[in-house]
Amino acid sequence: MGNGAYPASWYAATRDASADRPPLAGRTDTDVAVVGGGFAGLHSARLLALQGKRVTLVERHRIGWGASGRNGGFVGPGFAERSGALIDRLGLDHARRLYAQSQRGVDIVREAIDALGRPDIHMGSGKLSVSRTDQGPGFADRTRTLADRLGATFEPWDAGRVRGLLDTSRYHQAIHDPQSFHIHPLNLALALAADIEARGGAIHEGTEATGLAREGSAWRLRTRRGEIVAPHVVLAGNADLGPVQPQMAGAVLPVATYVAVTEKIGPKLAEAIRWSGAISDTRRAGDYYRVIDGDRLLWGGRITTDTREPPRLREMMRGDILSVYPQLGDIRIEYAWPGIMGYAPHKMPQVGEIQPGLWICSAFGGHGLAQTAAGADAVTTGILGDDSLWRLFEPFGTRWAGGPFGRAATQLAYWSLQARDRWDEKRHAKNAETLRT
Ligand SMILES: Cc1cc2nc3c(=O)[nH]c(=O)nc-3n(C[C@H](O)[C@H](O)[C@H](O)COP(=O)(O)OP(=O)(O)OC[C@H]3O[C@@H](n4cnc5c(N)ncnc54)[C@H](O)[C@@H]3O)c2cc1C
Repeated sequence: MGNGAYPASWYAATRDASADRPPLAGRTDTDVAVVGGGFAGLHSARLLALQGKRVTLVERHRIGWGASGRNGGFVGPGFAERSGALIDRLGLDHARRLYAQSQRGVDIVREAIDALGRPDIHMGSGKLSVSRTDQGPGFADRTRTLADRLGATFEPWDAGRVRGLLDTSRYHQAIHDPQSFHIHPLNLALALAADIEARGGAIHEGTEATGLAREGSAWRLRTRRGEIVAPHVVLAGNADLGPVQPQMAGAVLPVATYVAVTEKIGPKLAEAIRWSGAISDTRRAGDYYRVIDGDRLLWGGRITTDTREPPRLREMMRGDILSVYPQLGDIRIEYAWPGIMGYAPHKMPQVGEIQPGLWICSAFGGHGLAQTAAGADAVTTGILGDDSLWRLFEPFGTRWAGGPFGRAATQLAYWSLQARDRWDEKRHAKNAETLRT
């Protein structure tokens, strides 16, 4: 894959026909330089441009080339770290304000889509988080209590309601979030970029930021053929920031996950899945999927710290689909692609000012379409002089993610979580059999 090519995804096959943008050449003076043309960089640049700031964004490959243009497309509140763990660690008030900021991220994405007036971005509403084990009689009360404590809109659904919509024996109860929706992420990224330019911002593709140095009260950001001088720099490079800021690059762990899109399946898909919202299961590294394009299934899943594409990716993904919906039978996977998520060891984003005028907006892990907008909002308000939002993220810090040792530890943790998931499912199946006999 060359620098200019998108991976061969369904999104790339159905994206809008934006032209390439030229690399940066020569010197530019601006208010804010942004590194990274994913959602973290794009939302930052757009929110700043909306406030009248001059912005210049550089992207190593193309707009939306990274995780932002190849994900599951689910937009919803919350963070990769569980809300219960955040309450335990930070106290209810702080956890509630963080959750509210993630809801603000959902609103920013929704408002942007409305303002951009593009019919090819929003693809469906609502999200179900389904459980593969029986959550017992206290599930509904527990879910309502947590929603109430967080100020969230999610609600419990019982197994009967879930099975009325999803024809599989795998699932029990679900949490339904009506605030969530799903989108064509690459078209959103391209539309945000076009809007930044319409507001006077500059975007350069094929432009890697390679170095950063302080120059008086400003920063000098170097690229291969040019440089940007600005009082503020936003680093939004996810897990692949490179040498521009080695400390921040080392604070994010790259974790691969995969998405597949089937051929057009026909009416048997609507018999199996009678729900037009997004679906994910609640295992530690579960499946996430949705119906797109009328009768195709977009299916995501698996995580690994080995970032190479597996040779039998299509067969793997097909097997995962049929393990939940065997009735789909002989389906063909038309597209399958990998993507890299950036995780900090604490599973929370890295958002804030790390040196005067140097901002980080990164590490959105498996949960980033709304969270990048939430982080960008916090960075934007920070650059405009209000520290209150980015300081919500301050307790998590930006420590080193452990390099290869961090990857090995994460992979081991993932395997043990997977084993626990399988054990939980087996144990519940056995209990159900014991009850039946
Ligand atoms: C397969 C997959 C499925 C996912 N599904 C979902 C989902 O359904 N819902 C959800 O909320 N989240 C999902 N996520 C996570 C979500 O996509 C990410 O959290 C989010 O897109 C991260 O955005 P970002 O801007 O931080 O990173 P990216 O989109 O990766 O963008 C970073 C960009 O910075 C560029 N860059 C890096 N360093 C430099 C440099 N030095 N100079 C110039 N450019 C540089 C890179 O080329 C890249 O384009 C998924 C992720 C993956 C991989």
